[in-house]
Amino acid sequence: MIKCWLISFCMILYALCPLSSSAAEQLKNASSATRDANAALLQHLPFADRKDFEDARRGFIAGLPDQTIRNAKGGVVWSMKNFSFLDKEAAPDTVNPSLWRMAKLNMNSGLFAVTDRIYQVRGLDLSNMTIIEGDTGLIIIDPLSSIATATAALELYRAKGPDKDAKTRPVKAVIYTHSHVDHYGGVKGVVSEQDVATGKTAVLAPEGFLEEAVSENVFAGNAMTRRALYMYGALLPYGEKGRVDAGLGKTSAVGGLVSLIAPTDSIRSTGEKRVIDGVEFEFQMAPDTEAPAEMLLYLPRFKALGAAEDATHTLHNLYTLRGAKVRDANKWWKALDEALDRFGGRAEVLFGQHHWPVWGVDNIRAHLKIQRNGYKFLHDQTLRLANMGYTPTEISEALRFPPSLDRQWSLHGYYGTVSHNVKAVYQHYLGWFDGNPANLNPLPPVEAARRYVEFMGGAGEVVKKAKEYYDKGEYRWVAEVLKHVVFVEPANMDARSLQADAFEQLGYQAESGPWRGFYLTGAQELRYGLPHADGLPGGSTASPDTVQAMTAEMILDFLAIHLNADRAEGKVLRITWVQPDTRESYALTLENSVLLYKKDATDGNPDATLTMPRAILAAIAGGRLKLEQALGAKEALVSGNAARATEFFELLDEFSLLFPIVSREFGESARAQQQNAQ
Ligand SMILES: [Zn+2]
Repeated sequence: MIKCWLISFCMILYALCPLSSSAAEQLKNASSATRDANAALLQHLPFADRKDFEDARRGFIAGLPDQTIRNAKGGVVWSMKNFSFLDKEAAPDTVNPSLWRMAKLNMNSGLFAVTDRIYQVRGLDLSNMTIIEGDTGLIIIDPLSSIATATAALELYRAKGPDKDAKTRPVKAVIYTHSHVDHYGGVKGVVSEQDVATGKTAVLAPEGFLEEAVSENVFAGNAMTRRALYMYGALLPYGEKGRVDAGLGKTSAVGGLVSLIAPTDSIRSTGEKRVIDGVEFEFQMAPDTEAPAEMLLYLPRFKALGAAEDATHTLHNLYTLRGAKVRDANKWWKALDEALDRFGGRAEVLFGQHHWPVWGVDNIRAHLKIQRNGYKFLHDQTLRLANMGYTPTEISEALRFPPSLDRQWSLHGYYGTVSHNVKAVYQHYLGWFDGNPANLNPLPPVEAARRYVEFMGGAGEVVKKAKEYYDKGEYRWVAEVLKHVVFVEPANMDARSLQADAFEQLGYQAESGPWRGFYLTGAQELRYGLPHADGLPGGSTASPDTVQAMTAEMILDFLAIHLNADRAEGKVLRITWVQPDTRESYALTLENSVLLYKKDATDGNPDATLTMPRAILAAIAGGRLKLEQALGAKEALVSGNAARATEFFELLDEFSLLFPIVSREFGESARAQQQNAQ
């Protein structure tokens, strides 16, 4: 299971295998419709406004030597060299010019001065690390996503920071602004667990941080990881026809180890203050905005507002396409409104944990207002149309920001989009059902596809008509109708290729990094089948820190998600699980194909009693370890009827990361069909 814990909304921390260069050469050029669409944006959008380019470069001190970060084994975790093709000023016609603009802005990488005694390391990871010089030491806000990148970021400050003591200042505190992995995963690159345990370094976080950090991606983790491969284009080649930018930052680090140290100090309410190493911090809680546990912070001494991830230079996600619970637009705008009231007249610099800062009281007020108004617009207008009876797809098609908001670069859909955020607002209030009984119980996709194709005159006819629409530039429609053919005939290469071509042009036109990632990855899998598992993670990417932070009940919940109800039918099993360190026990009962658990088991007569640490049970649940192996290695002990314990664990399914998305061939037949397709 653990292979899926390490992802978050913005992370793929695996060694992946991009497409070979020969395959990359077969990528198509932009069609005339795509060239026209992208060219039209150049006329329509305010490209003459270059303020963001000035701000993204402002305060630059030094870049990363060799632009590359390696992990302890010498593997490349991060390299800006992959993006050297972005040196070109004008966007190629295979990239939306607005996304190209953001992709170039995100090329600013290195150590930057934000204001007196506040620095940021940007472009060494998807997120930023903020470094504050206290009276004697350092306070670090958000230590990036992996130990390797965080270590490199701190080293860069120590080597190039202008302060005479930059090399030796101890880290006095770490602050996590929120519960996403790109904001805590590198913590052990900047402090040791021992320094935290002995009180030398404090770790501050918003209330609920630890639980949210560990739980957000666990239960649906395998599906999220798979979809994140699409969202971040992690399997795509770098380049004008491939991976360009994630919208929120350049990309994510690959192959770095994720760490986690639990907070020693939780911030619970707005207005709470702390003095850390002589620097006063004032906090504003912003739960259920961009993350379930999130906070903003203000430093009166430097007149600086840390806006976490709630006011970046993009329209953010109310729903993230990798899959997650939807976020609350109403709470988001209110948090920004409160920040405006509390700090809007005082702050002279606003720094976020992605993108570049905003300087000047008036600019900050304007930035917060625009961001606030953007989320409120989406919230209110979606519900207005929903209350008039419009459904999510219709609302998404109809709603656009008014010109006064659309002119603002910081509200453009580089990461979230108006289109999919609108659907998130609808989902938040009304759920998946649009009220039309035709959509209440439709046939599943393959069954429906079979009939659609039959009704439309057979696969050959659909492909022929789809080609006509392709030639007219109607790529959305081509993508939709060919889905039916590909679902029914996964080896139909005419259909697959044409659908891939349509996805590709949609990707070339997308302003959003994640949309581009989805379309181009979909095209790639239609053309070449599922990626090979060789370059993908094995079962050993577990972060021990993450496992350690999971509660026993969380592990049991996750175990139960693996239970194959069909195989469990008719079985009744009772297992007691004892944790050797705490002697805590749980009574596990399987009945009605449901796995239940109860703490402090009093049942004196289970089928078997298993004694094993949480991490071992977690490994077995995730399919990384067999019960027999754990018993053989003396990592687990069994008493009672051992065969019954084995029987129990054999009822658990293993999740495969590479499940199909653009076609529907599952399981054993997948590889054969894929080979046919090739
Ligand atoms: Zn982030």
